Amino acid sequence: MLLRHTPKEIGERGALTINPAKTCQPIGAMYAALGIHGCLPHSHGSQGCCAYHRSTLTRHYKEPISAATSSFTEGSSVFGGQANLLQAIETIFTVYDPEVIAVHTTCLSETIGDDLPQIIDKADKAGKIPPGRRVIYANTPSYVGSHVTGFSNMVKGMAATARKSGQKNGKVNVIPGWVEPADMEEIKRLAALLGVEIILFPDTSGVLNGPLDGQFQMYPPGGVTMDELKSTGDSTGTLALGEWCSAEAARLLDTSCKVPCRVLEMPYGLKATDRFVDALRTIAGVSVGDEINHERGQLVDMISDMHQYFYHKQVAMAGDPDQLIALCEFLVSIDMWPRHVVTGTPGRAFEERIRQITAGLPYQVNVKAGAGADLFLFHQWIKNDPVDLLLGNTYLKYIARDEDIPLLRFGFPILDRVGHQYFPSVGYKGGLRLLEKILGALLDRKDRDDPEQSFELVM
Ligand code: SF4
Repeated sequence: MLLRHTPKEIGERGALTINPAKTCQPIGAMYAALGIHGCLPHSHGSQGCCAYHRSTLTRHYKEPISAATSSFTEGSSVFGGQANLLQAIETIFTVYDPEVIAVHTTCLSETIGDDLPQIIDKADKAGKIPPGRRVIYANTPSYVGSHVTGFSNMVKGMAATARKSGQKNGKVNVIPGWVEPADMEEIKRLAALLGVEIILFPDTSGVLNGPLDGQFQMYPPGGVTMDELKSTGDSTGTLALGEWCSAEAARLLDTSCKVPCRVLEMPYGLKATDRFVDALRTIAGVSVGDEINHERGQLVDMISDMHQYFYHKQVAMAGDPDQLIALCEFLVSIDMWPRHVVTGTPGRAFEERIRQITAGLPYQVNVKAGAGADLFLFHQWIKNDPVDLLLGNTYLKYIARDEDIPLLRFGFPILDRVGHQYFPSVGYKGGLRLLEKILGALLDRKDRDDPEQSFELVM
C-alpha cells in the first residue's frame, strides 16, 4: 500500500499539485527534435535539467539520447546565458558535426529572459554556424504547459523553417503528434498503401527504434531532413494529428506559406483511423485499396468477436490530451465506459470533447485538465467509483497495486515495459494491438478471479 495515505474523501485544494499527470516542457521539445535527421538537441539551461530530460527519454525508449547543454553556472544564472550558447553552438558544430541544432529553453533561461532568436542571429553573424547548417529553437518554460506544450513548440519551430518556392511538390505534410516511433512508421506505411507521398515531421522512426548492429551512430538514419522541412511550404496540404501537439505548426504553415491545413484527432481506433484515411484520400485525390480495407475488416472482426468482454467495462485513464481523446472515442465505440479521465496538460477544450464523446453514458464522467488534474485526485476518484481497468503510463502502477486493478500501460513515460517503440497503436493494425492488450488484461483478471465452476478453457 504505497499510496495508503491517499484518502477517499476529496477536499478543497487551491495551489497544491500532488503527483502531476505530466512532465516538463523541454522533454517534449527534445523528443520532437530527435525526429529531425542529423539533429543534436540542445538544452539552454543548467546541466541538471538536461540530465533529467535525457534520462527520462532514455528510460522510455531504451536508447541512448544525445543532447548538449549550455551548462549554466552561477555567473550565467545572474548575467544570462548568451556567452554559453554562443560557445556551445561553435563547439557542437566543431566536435559533433550535426546538420542542425535544436535549442530549447528551460525554466532558468526563461526566467532570466534570454532572447534565443537574437543569440542565434549573433552566432550566425559571427560565423559560428557553418554554411548549410541550421540552428532552430523553441521557447519551453516549464512553469506553464507540459511536455506536450514543449513538443508542440518545437514542432512549430520546425514549421518555421518552411519556405514557399512557388512550385508545388505534390506531397502532403503529416504532423503525427507525440506518438511512438512505431506509430510514425505505421502512418508512413498507411500513406504508402494509399499511394500518397507525405512529409512526416517530426519522425523518430529509425532514430529511437533502430537495430543493434554493433555500430554507434551519433545520428541514426531516420528523421525528417531539413530539406524536407523546407519544402513543407510547397506541399498540397497539411494534416495535423492532435490539437495539442500538432495544430499550431499546421496553422503556422497555413499562414506563412498558404498550405491549407486540417486538424484531426490522432488515429487510434476505428473511427479516428477512418477519418485519417479519408482525409489523406481526399487531399491527395486517391482511392482506398484492398489492403487497407482488409486491415479495417480485421479490426471490425475482432471487435465483434470479443464484444462481450468489453461490454460496459469501466476504465480510468490518465495521460496526454490528444491520445486520451482518441482513446476515449475508441473505448466508447466498443461499448467500454470511460469513468475518470485526467491530463496534466491544460486546455478547456479537452473537458468539452471528453464530455461530448461520453454524452451517451448513464453517468457523468469525471474529467479534469491542467494543474489540479493530478494522480492524487485521480486515485481519489477511483476509490469512490472503482473501475475495471486503468489506462496510462507507468506511474499508474502504484494505484493499480493499491486498488488491485489491471493496468494497461499506454503513453509517456513507460519505464518498466518494452514494446511501445516497436509495435504501433495507431491505424487499424494498431487498433488490433490495443484490443489485444485490453483483452489480455481483462481476461487475465477474469481467469484469476472466476470461481472454479465458471473457470473456462475457451473464451
Ligand atoms: S521543471 Fe524547469 S527546472 Fe525543472 S527540470 Fe524542467 S526545465 Fe529544468
